[in-house]
Amino acid sequence: MKNNFRMVLEMTSERLWWQKPLRIIQFNLQQKDAPLMDAEKIARESEEMGANVIVINAGGIVGWYPSQVRFHHVNEYMENGRDILREILDTCHARDIKVIARFDFALAEDYIYHQNPQWFARNPDGTVISRGNDRPGLWRRLYTTCINNGYQNEAVGLAVLNEVLDNYDVDGIFWNGGYSSPCWCGVCQEKYLTKYGKPIPEKASEFEADWLASCNTESTQKYWDLMRTKAPDKLFTRYYFPFNLDLGHNMTLPADNINERSRTGNMLCTEAQDVLSKGQKNIPEWSEPAIRMKMGRTMEELPSPIGIIHACPGMDWRHVGLPVPEFLYWSAQIKANGGSHWSTLTGICDTIEDKRILDGVTQLNQMIKKVEDDMDEAKCAAQVLLLSDDGTYVQGWADGLISNHIEFEMMAHYQLDLEKMKRYSVVVIPKGFAFPEGASRLLEEYVSTGGHLIVEGTSGIELSPVLHLLGIEGQIVCSEPMVAAYQRIEPAGSVLHTKLGNTGLVPLRGKVGFCVPKSNTEIYTTWVPPFAPADSVGAPPERASLPAAQTQVPLSMISKFKSGKVMYLAYEPSRLYREYGLNDFCKLIGAYIDIMLGEKKQLEVHAPHGVQISLFKKDNLYMLHLVNGVGQRPIKESIACHNIKFSLKLKPGQQVNNVEARISGRPVPYEVRDDVLTAELEELGVWDMVCVEFLS
Ligand SMILES: [Zn+2]
Repeated sequence: MKNNFRMVLEMTSERLWWQKPLRIIQFNLQQKDAPLMDAEKIARESEEMGANVIVINAGGIVGWYPSQVRFHHVNEYMENGRDILREILDTCHARDIKVIARFDFALAEDYIYHQNPQWFARNPDGTVISRGNDRPGLWRRLYTTCINNGYQNEAVGLAVLNEVLDNYDVDGIFWNGGYSSPCWCGVCQEKYLTKYGKPIPEKASEFEADWLASCNTESTQKYWDLMRTKAPDKLFTRYYFPFNLDLGHNMTLPADNINERSRTGNMLCTEAQDVLSKGQKNIPEWSEPAIRMKMGRTMEELPSPIGIIHACPGMDWRHVGLPVPEFLYWSAQIKANGGSHWSTLTGICDTIEDKRILDGVTQLNQMIKKVEDDMDEAKCAAQVLLLSDDGTYVQGWADGLISNHIEFEMMAHYQLDLEKMKRYSVVVIPKGFAFPEGASRLLEEYVSTGGHLIVEGTSGIELSPVLHLLGIEGQIVCSEPMVAAYQRIEPAGSVLHTKLGNTGLVPLRGKVGFCVPKSNTEIYTTWVPPFAPADSVGAPPERASLPAAQTQVPLSMISKFKSGKVMYLAYEPSRLYREYGLNDFCKLIGAYIDIMLGEKKQLEVHAPHGVQISLFKKDNLYMLHLVNGVGQRPIKESIACHNIKFSLKLKPGQQVNNVEARISGRPVPYEVRDDVLTAELEELGVWDMVCVEFLS
């Protein structure tokens, strides 16, 4: 893949602005902000809040400059031919702040519909799809536009982008077009029939999995082609959703193929929305920003992915800010995982009433400033690779690894690559992994050459590409879902006691893969069958005895394969941790990794589970990020953690020059013995980066 912007890069050794550290603030302008906007003040306030880039509305549903493109609606609150886009560009550029222009062509006003009804998305019965009909305030009606028709393409969208590139010195384009709405218009009907040889289904949930994404890519490709030819040095963002997205109404959007997304843009961006307004029971995963960044980083040819954080507790509460301690912990994960942070606000500083969040954004950017030069072009120093295919089990593993302070990187199933896998001592294959073609050979080669593989799964059919590596005889028979079952720790697995403490049993639920181990396979834990059906586990206790307290049915086992090792987990540790959150499940995941890393384990961190770590390296530096998520979400106050000890294995003879906490500025006492650095961070606020500097 060779894009024009890369050719530009090769011609000029200087990096482009968007390949350097960014602190981005987006003002989501409201039409009625226009008369209140003082561009000079906005530029000054952006600078004061620590931004070196701002994102501002430019065109699409509403134009913020006097556009000449027919049917491009210009903001009627922008009086006397005012050109807000130009004012912002002038005042920001005077302060060396870059400006990204935002465009969104997904909706258009009804007067545009009346002249061009063919541009609009339609339901299966032919009716158009309006949005926000009941919105108070005498707004004109908006209709959803069709991704495959003129408004989103040549007639308006591309003409607008052309106009802006010709007349305005914007530094980049924020393409708010990551997702296409379902449409059943004549154009879509014909396109679907041609593509798949069958009529478009009446229910969006029955669309072919790649239908909406492929329409989106096809349209975006035209914008990207225009960018590459007209403005190859400018930023053009491309959205990605790393996991399946539940839209409700029985409709799930499949996760985006990040490789494909990266072919129609030069920088990836993703939104980790901390939607608290869904209620405490539906609170977003505590590590979502971190995982989104890890997935975005899989595109190594592109700069750090952008993590867009709406600074509000849900779009219905967009006029107030997230609680600042929650915002800081949530947002710190972006930079701590090698991403570029983008704070999104509704309105401008003058129209934002919740000034507390403005202080929060300022505070965050001040912290980012302290680490960004060291982190610039740093590489993650993970020893563990988690294979990903968008599912529950992947997220369970990710959560378990984070809770155990184990740094890891991710690789999607369509990215499977032997040379990249070889960078990691341990590769984890979650249950249900969608093995791509050729995976069997690659994974065998990885293990043969000394790699350590952890395989989770309960069905031989699912695991068929790696069945021969698991150290078992014959097939795997999948059990029924179980309750009231346990795992027994066997003598060979006694190392598990170092993590779990003094217990013979740990809880078990769900499905198990029954199998027979080969004679030289080491059995760490075995299955203890349920002692009662679910309805009688409580009574009577007189009958609670285990019917078979000891079996020879293995649940976790290790075998050798050529120069490597394979751990097979014939149950669902990742799902159990994700669903039940018991510390035993967490500790088991940590223990599995420790066992498989063995002597090679480089980093050991002793901190509460709620502290997330990440480890990066560059030149003569190692950078250990600690993000403090301790406390019940949504976090109401930052609870400082004390005396966080960590140890880092050094290369033989490697000498340490200094250890320092970059954000708090605290010195970090340390000592080096037998090529192991041990250090202790006295106090951790919301986020710090401990920098270990070696003598080069
Ligand atoms: Zn259509």
